[in-house]
Amino acid sequence: MNEKTFPLSRAELEELSRTYPTPFYLYGEKAIRCKAKEIAGAFGVFPGFKEHFAVKALPNPFILKILANEGFGADCSSLPELLLAEMAGIKGEDVMFSSNNTPAAEYREARRLGAVINLDDFTHIEYLEKNAGIPELISCRYNPGPLKSGNAIIGKPEEAKYGFTREQLLAAYPLLREKGAKRFGLHTMVASNELSVAYHVETARMLFELAAEIKEKTGIRMEFVNLGGGVGIPYRPEDKAVDLEELSKGIEAAYRNIVVPAGLAPLGVRIEWGRDVTGPCGWLVSRALHTKNIYRNYIGIDACMADLMRPALYGAYHHITVPGKENETLTETYDVTGSLCENNDKFAVQRSLPKIEPGDFVIIHDAGAHGRAMGFNYNGKLRCGELLLRSNGSITQIRRAETADDYFATLDRGAVGNFS
Ligand SMILES: *Cc1c(COP(=O)(O)O)cnc(C)c1O
Repeated sequence: MNEKTFPLSRAELEELSRTYPTPFYLYGEKAIRCKAKEIAGAFGVFPGFKEHFAVKALPNPFILKILANEGFGADCSSLPELLLAEMAGIKGEDVMFSSNNTPAAEYREARRLGAVINLDDFTHIEYLEKNAGIPELISCRYNPGPLKSGNAIIGKPEEAKYGFTREQLLAAYPLLREKGAKRFGLHTMVASNELSVAYHVETARMLFELAAEIKEKTGIRMEFVNLGGGVGIPYRPEDKAVDLEELSKGIEAAYRNIVVPAGLAPLGVRIEWGRDVTGPCGWLVSRALHTKNIYRNYIGIDACMADLMRPALYGAYHHITVPGKENETLTETYDVTGSLCENNDKFAVQRSLPKIEPGDFVIIHDAGAHGRAMGFNYNGKLRCGELLLRSNGSITQIRRAETADDYFATLDRGAVGNFS
């Protein structure tokens, strides 16, 4: 069991919502720093260890600055994400650029920032050379295909669009060396939201073995392997969190058994986790607007899937609690809905909850990664803002809520008036 807690009382929320009306995201700085220290502690045993936080999980520069302060770098996959890393002061090789189907302008920006480019395909070697030049340090993404099973969100590796085949990699590194590269990295990411320690240890073993094979067959020695992201979090109260010490020990054993005998030590170990770092440290805070009783009983809240899409997109479970009613019996069965004109705009389906009245706060847990970031504006829905609960207990707004003017910002409203 993992306990689903929320850092503010109902009275504190009433007070806070006078300044910042619901809905909003709330992130906890103390919890984020605590998690960052736990990761650094567990993986500090590896030479050149670096966690490049996956910016897409929580693309807010205030959060990136906290993580940079804890020693983390950034993992980016688009031009605006590179600019966010720069805004947060994350520089040079602390930035991984793990993109796919990449436009030339984004490669040029990654080169300008000195980021580590992680190529997604063999044809991109020539494309990069022509458009941005081959850097001294370069990484390639491996797709093991049928050699590795995948999981529900990312799919089977052989059906996934990412990465090089093994044969392509064996040809890619010598070609990159010929074109001037001198330092090399090897990357993979084969799962998403995966809670099994054994699965992640097996991924590390696979990369270590491949690095050994590349050295044997081409004489090229990897400077680092990057295990990607994909570590799961316990969204359901009965789920068990990944034990980071156990994971680190498993990877360390593989390192001793494969990397050391192959003469590859010291081999850097990098990761690009997003979800596990900030997911449990963020909440979507909303209020119940309406109760509705037809064939089912509904609670309509003031947030919708434009603020948090995971339940609608993947049927993902997010735990829900009602501040002040934590100890009440779960007497009701509700669908908890937003206001979008899409019937999948539901945060929970047939969920056991205490009796909810309009005005009650409704907290959606584990929303600190792939939450606000996946928001959208369909149906004219305006995305909510983001608040940070600082370690000293104060609250800072780190992104305001959108307004109708933001929604219209890409329209020339004057031209609409003159149009006939
Ligand atoms: C999404 C992504 C990550 C982060 O994944 P999490 O599941 O949030 O840990 C890391 N690397 C790449 C290339 C990704 O696409």
